[in-house]
Amino acid sequence: MQTLYIVATPIGNLADMSLRAITVLSNTDLILAEDTRVTRTLLEHYNVKKELLSYHQHSGRGMIEKVIRLLKEGKDIALVSDAGTPGINDPGNFLIQEIIKELPETKVVAIPGANAAVSALSISGFPTDKFTFLGFPPHKKGRQTFFKNIEAIAHTVVLYESKHRITKALQQLAPLARPLVVCRELTKQFESTYRGMAEEILMELTGNHLLGEFVVVVGPKPRKSKPESDEE
Ligand code: SAM
Repeated sequence: MQTLYIVATPIGNLADMSLRAITVLSNTDLILAEDTRVTRTLLEHYNVKKELLSYHQHSGRGMIEKVIRLLKEGKDIALVSDAGTPGINDPGNFLIQEIIKELPETKVVAIPGANAAVSALSISGFPTDKFTFLGFPPHKKGRQTFFKNIEAIAHTVVLYESKHRITKALQQLAPLARPLVVCRELTKQFESTYRGMAEEILMELTGNHLLGEFVVVVGPKPRKSKPESDEE
């Protein structure tokens, strides 16, 4: 039976590639890649020679139909994104939905690996028994509401933000008065972790500290402590 492999790739450090991911990419009939240049660099590093087909956010219906046709022919396909786990805040998600809908007999198999949100959570030190992943805040319309709505989420929250809007995001998180962990360039040369309240992190995030990729983890809402009783 045809299989669609959802293959996680590194989020910055090429060594974070699983042995299974290399085996699957070597043995599949073809690889669908968000950006074929990025994936080619990764494949060259692991000496994998395989046909690449581009699947990105602007790929239209025609491309989805082509993938369905190939799967119907019995081809095994691997899907990779530029970094991390495909389908998590990247274009693969829609393709996966469509394949499950149009060709439900396809085996969809996860090849797990790096993911920026989970990596940040794992080092946050905040409770992770319950968390909400919000992806990217909207750039303009709905942005204020996005941050306002976090107030109602009492547990840990994780979000992605770009270098262009990280300062703005921290300013918008400040009124929540919750501890934050900001992870920059996870697994890369200039990896840094900033811990504290929004105002404290904003003071650190200047110059080169504003470059790269960011994950923001918002700590849980502080519990209101009960007033201490005078009774012994
Ligand atoms: N699929 C990816 C994953 O599994 O994490 C996420 C893709 S999303 C389009 C890209 C965003 O993830 C970046 O803008 C940033 O917020 C976050 N990200 C990816 N790599 C990162 C890294 N090395 N350090 C910090 N954040 C990262």
